Amino acid sequence: MTDVTKNGTAALLEVTDVEVRYGAIAALKGISFDVREGEIVALLGANGAGKTTTQKTVSGMMRPASGSITFDRGRIDGIPAHELIGLGICHVPEGRHVFPRMSVHENLEMGAFRFKTMDRNDYDRVLELFPRLRERIKQQAGTLSGGEQQMLAIGRALMGKPRLLLLDEPSMGLAPLVVAQIFEIIREINKAGVTVLLVEQNAAQALALANRGYVLETGEIVLTGTGEELLADERVRAAYLGEEIAAS
Ligand code: ATP
Repeated sequence: MTDVTKNGTAALLEVTDVEVRYGAIAALKGISFDVREGEIVALLGANGAGKTTTQKTVSGMMRPASGSITFDRGRIDGIPAHELIGLGICHVPEGRHVFPRMSVHENLEMGAFRFKTMDRNDYDRVLELFPRLRERIKQQAGTLSGGEQQMLAIGRALMGKPRLLLLDEPSMGLAPLVVAQIFEIIREINKAGVTVLLVEQNAAQALALANRGYVLETGEIVLTGTGEELLADERVRAAYLGEEIAAS
């Protein structure tokens, strides 16, 4: 059933009672959430809570044992990842995974593989968003810094013309200044019309950016609210913002 939200817009992504198993282990125990067109939605949770599994399931890398997933009102659960890219669901997995022996330019070209030719406007837009990549356009991707590789992974996904961008821990292992740049770029990408589902350990910054968030605990959604509500929630502050509270 399509959820028509309070403001009358249907969800772009709707996940309903999804269960995902790794053999005997239930990694997701019947979770439900939605992402509306134009939103940034954050998925938070401790290690092993099921955030990555959720993204892999939405992007078609994993199949739910039960439940349903709709995108733009059509059922997508069970459709493989390469076909979902064609619908505009692009995934930047944890750990970046750029093609290390290819140049920055070739990596960006690969992002447009589903089109006959690369869209020059998309290419120019990506290089505007990431001037660092323009400066390193001929450099082998494997020799880029961690932050630059993250930029390239996001830029490559943008070459696929996403409607929904799935970002898994884009700030992982990056210096604070680079993290701030990456978050600012996510904001700009969203302003340009791309809906974002963001997995982050960096709860304070993710919630400051997100319209809404969901907190996962051992495969279940235990809390949801707007970014502001979750930032103010005592349970979130205790579990995920401990350091920030201590530091302030
Ligand atoms: P992290 O923040 O550590 O990346 P996460 O919230 O993304 O964690 P998932 O990676 O989705 O969590 O893992 C959810 C659960 O599924 C964990 O208990 C994990 O051990 C288990 N799991 C994940 N991948 C596999 C796998 N390939 N085989 C078996 N169990 C797995």
